[in-house]
Amino acid sequence: MSTERNENTNRNTGSAAARRKKRELARRRRRRQYIVMAVLGIAIVALAVVLVFMIKKGQTTAPAPDTQTQAQEQTETDTKESTVTPAEPTKKEPETIELTELQMHTGDLILVNGTYPYDFAANAETVNLVTIDSAKSVDYTVAKAEMQLSAPTIPVLDQMITDCNAALGVNDTGVTSAYRTKEYQQSVYDEYVESQGEDYAKAYVATPGYSEHHTGLAMDMGIYYEGGGEGSFSESENAVWFSENSYKYGFVRRYQEDKTAITKINNEAWHFRYVGIPHATYMTQQNLCLEEYIDYLRSNATKDNPLHVDCQDKSYDIYFTTETTIEKPQGNYEISGNNVDGYIITVEAA
Ligand SMILES: [Zn+2]
Repeated sequence: MSTERNENTNRNTGSAAARRKKRELARRRRRRQYIVMAVLGIAIVALAVVLVFMIKKGQTTAPAPDTQTQAQEQTETDTKESTVTPAEPTKKEPETIELTELQMHTGDLILVNGTYPYDFAANAETVNLVTIDSAKSVDYTVAKAEMQLSAPTIPVLDQMITDCNAALGVNDTGVTSAYRTKEYQQSVYDEYVESQGEDYAKAYVATPGYSEHHTGLAMDMGIYYEGGGEGSFSESENAVWFSENSYKYGFVRRYQEDKTAITKINNEAWHFRYVGIPHATYMTQQNLCLEEYIDYLRSNATKDNPLHVDCQDKSYDIYFTTETTIEKPQGNYEISGNNVDGYIITVEAA
């Protein structure tokens, strides 16, 4: 019994252990399955995340090449179209410049004479008057310390006086008169009427408002001896040198004997007016006073058929227009009103 029991017990014990072992194995199997499932699950989730990420990335970066291609296609179409109709999209409108009524009365070529007064209002903004004495870089006499000229003419005047003095071996070229206000011109006129009579004043002194001295572009030359004292410019060698050479500096001898019928001003060997090098060159070569030159340009120099001037290793095309919208010239150019009826465009050839 006891054995049986023992056996039983043994059997019992034996079968219990086997059951326990079986349970243990099953548990282990289940745990393994869980692990596999979990790994698989993680792998699936990870794969899903990667896929979503890739799709998203694809959405943000992919359109760029698309756009580029579209742009390229667009350009290609444009080019194709433009070869068919060249006037349409690729041709750039030429740049234009608007010219104002005020501009017609400003610039280096304005004609100021007994008929066409100086427009003080139009020039108030643009003219840059400076005191000759403080702006000049070389030593010469200026009759009055407060005398002024347009700033850009000063270095040109400096050079012209230097070259004249050097050529003649003298040091006596100076300036007796420059910019004049309307009031100052009135006082000069009155002085001449008083001392020389009205006829003389009319012949030599412009009516206030009608003087070229108002422009700041004209001055009267004088002779000032080093030891003191003044000479007559008209009778000097300096006058001859200036008459022959001033055009190289852009100045013209404004009032000459053979032009008095046009200028209505007597012969003045001392009065010089800045107009710019190409203009001064042509006027001097062709013996034209400013009135004649203005008329010549009006009748002969158009944009399509300009006056061509070669000087000092440069070429210029010069034309007259009454148009207030002009095509912007290429390269260096200058625009001046003529103070009468239009504009003079000077284009330096590149
Ligand atoms: Zn003068």
